[in-house]
Amino acid sequence: MADLEEYRAKRNAGETPEPLTPKRRRKRSRPIFVVQRHSARRLHYDFRLEHDGVLRSWALPRGVPLRAGERSLAVHVEDHPLEYATFEGDIPGGQYGAGWVEVWDHGTYEVQRERPDGTLTVILHGGRLQGEWALVPAKLDGEERNWLIVRAAKEGALGPARHYEPMLARRAKRVPAGEEWAFEIGWNGTRALSPMEGAKARFEHAAGKKLDARCKELLGRMPRAVRTSECVLDGVICEFDEGAAYVVFDVLEIEGAVLLDEPWTRRRELLAELLDDHVGEVRLSRAYDDGAALRTAARAQGLGVVAKRRDAVYREGALSGDWRLLD
Ligand code: MN
Repeated sequence: MADLEEYRAKRNAGETPEPLTPKRRRKRSRPIFVVQRHSARRLHYDFRLEHDGVLRSWALPRGVPLRAGERSLAVHVEDHPLEYATFEGDIPGGQYGAGWVEVWDHGTYEVQRERPDGTLTVILHGGRLQGEWALVPAKLDGEERNWLIVRAAKEGALGPARHYEPMLARRAKRVPAGEEWAFEIGWNGTRALSPMEGAKARFEHAAGKKLDARCKELLGRMPRAVRTSECVLDGVICEFDEGAAYVVFDVLEIEGAVLLDEPWTRRRELLAELLDDHVGEVRLSRAYDDGAALRTAARAQGLGVVAKRRDAVYREGALSGDWRLLD
């Protein structure tokens, strides 16, 4: 079994919840891989491959590249014990890697080839990650530990992100009745779609307004707020007493899968899974069942209410009766 000395030296027994003593495991037919999202001082995704009884590990500051031929930095770090593959939780402040860890994807892998220079090509069989990636000891900036992770050129269904037009709500006077309706606050602010590609987010303003410094700050928080590097969100940039926030109420695309034809309820489920609620500046717009009560509460705050049909698809660029603005 490979040596975990460096791994143990960095961690304090009794003060971190992470596994410290490896147990012997039964041999599986195929080795496992895991990607853990680690919201530490610097957000990164830890990419780990089972090898020789431990997990060979790389920290990916921009996540796993998903586009054909895309490459990004993979910092080679110390081997981790196999038990780490299922670790999720908070590492207390002051400890090594302080922050929170969650499993982003896991599965098995096959080694496609290993070159004499150390380049390792693997086929992943995961929930989200399927297909070929290569790990290349590129020594970026002359640093031994700075590898590259490369998505195979022929793979990756993702093209350049599509341009979307926001769906608009029709004005209405009466709160629609029936269980097919859900209700949200009609947020005051700037409506903006936010496409994210390769962990870089931008705002596309319906009103074509220029981005100011607060917006740039929000965009900087987006990779930490969203559990992916590729998606398109819809929401409103709001000014609250505590600062600016992007209040998100819909998701149009995740990792190349277009969601426009999914019912609103399904898009909401996916959106709730996507947003990390540790991040206050990017938050989910809550949905309510009781429209009349929400309207009373919203009016008291000078806000409107938007009624949404639960089974409605996202009608791009359309003024639709499936969304109704009550003010
Ligand atoms: Mn980490």
